[in-house]
Amino acid sequence: MQKRYDVIIVGGGITGCALLYTLSRYTSIKSILLLEKYDALAMLNSSASSNSQTLHFGDIETNYTKEHSLKTKEDAERVLYYARRLHGDAKRRIIMPVQKMVLGVGSEEVEGLEKGYHSWLKNIFPGLSLLGKKELERIEPNVVNGRDKREEIGALLSDKGYMVNFGLLAKQLAKDARVRGKKIDIILGARVIEATPRVSGYKVLTNKGEFYGGFVEFASGSYSLYFAKSMGYDKGLTILSIGGNFFYSKKVLRGKVYRVQKGGIPFAAVHGDPDITRPGITRFGPTVTVPLELEKGHPETFTDYMKVFDFNEPTFESISNILFNKDIESILRRNAVYALPEIGRYEFLKMEAGVIVPSLKVGDLHFASGTGGIRPQIIDEKKRNLLLGASKLYGDNVVFNITPSPGASSALGSGLEDSILISKTLGAEMLREKYEKEMGPISKSK
Ligand SMILES: Cc1cc2nc3c(=O)[nH]c(=O)nc-3n(C[C@H](O)[C@H](O)[C@H](O)COP(=O)(O)OP(=O)(O)OC[C@H]3O[C@@H](n4cnc5c(N)ncnc54)[C@H](O)[C@@H]3O)c2cc1C
Repeated sequence: MQKRYDVIIVGGGITGCALLYTLSRYTSIKSILLLEKYDALAMLNSSASSNSQTLHFGDIETNYTKEHSLKTKEDAERVLYYARRLHGDAKRRIIMPVQKMVLGVGSEEVEGLEKGYHSWLKNIFPGLSLLGKKELERIEPNVVNGRDKREEIGALLSDKGYMVNFGLLAKQLAKDARVRGKKIDIILGARVIEATPRVSGYKVLTNKGEFYGGFVEFASGSYSLYFAKSMGYDKGLTILSIGGNFFYSKKVLRGKVYRVQKGGIPFAAVHGDPDITRPGITRFGPTVTVPLELEKGHPETFTDYMKVFDFNEPTFESISNILFNKDIESILRRNAVYALPEIGRYEFLKMEAGVIVPSLKVGDLHFASGTGGIRPQIIDEKKRNLLLGASKLYGDNVVFNITPSPGASSALGSGLEDSILISKTLGAEMLREKYEKEMGPISKSK
């Protein structure tokens, strides 16, 4: 096997597969290798059971700024452009339209929704509509049934509701990345151990041998920061692993019901969703946990977590700033109880699921074991706080892509951004016209 490639991508989740697809189809780059340590693509956070399967557009995410919403919309639309070329059962298993809304409970939240809608949301998202109790009763009856009549509720209903199996999407992108005349290789079960600089590019050492890449992108989730640090690109960042679990109930919601999200809190509040892989249920979550691992359900990643975590004063000061933030502290305290056997279910019902579906009973809920993932939160040691949004580090012919924002929805957007950078660095051509025709406009700033 020829071991030299123009580009090596480390990590076969949605981020790595979206980059592979974009580089292969829309640049003149001739050879790309994707290395994935597990025996299949998208086994971790991108898998359908790990995340909430929402295609985020920035219309119902009440903590977003206008700029963040515009960028989120542009990235999400690329998924729709790509989906247009899928057909039949494959398409249905990857993406499905679904009703989607954000629910406000109590006068303060309802007023907040109305204010956001009138100030700028309706201009960017003309299909978004404000719903009162009456319309809600018709559209999503179980958010009204059984609720105290005096409680004020309202919602923003999106016309951009989609559930996406990001794991299958990643696999499909990888499949479609194989084009005639190019060398596109994917090696599974290939764990990258280290990457060392060479005169041009890097030598990448794996358990399956050595490979040479003119450019390397780490699309390895939390491990991207691990590699950045081991290669001397520590820019004062540390990871705080935030885990998330789900509870299942019988199907009680027609669509996705998000809750109003406070600004400054990077992890989404508990919401209710259908599951694209299990039509008969409603999933509530994610909860918030603080596991001591880089990958959920992989305690062997504890040692590497400790290597990424800086045991210094700025880190501890940052952590204490984060944990003593009134809102985050209360979320963590509440969520610690949800993890307890039996009492956890009662509390989760009272504080979260029951606020969305008041008629839900504790017996309707059960813990969805083996689901959920990790949302790596990046601590900026200089600012002594959390870095909100996407996190990427750039070096010489290398990118460390730690966490896309708002998650898998922006993977194709991130793939475009990095494809432009990589093709420029390697003196290759970015096929902009072809890209815009098939994947949507590229904004002037890129
Ligand atoms: C509870 C929860 C809910 C979420 N809900 C949503 C949602 O509704 N919508 C949304 O858009 N996003 C959501 N997200 C976020 C989204 O799931 C992630 O942002 C996205 O899956 C990250 O993709 P990734 O490819 O960067 O990382 P991953 O999917 O984690 O992939 C990283 C890959 O790198 C590989 N890797 C790591 N180290 C190595 C190595 N040394 N050698 C080779 N390979 C390596 C791993 O095996 C893995 O396959 C959610 C996340 C969570 C946890």
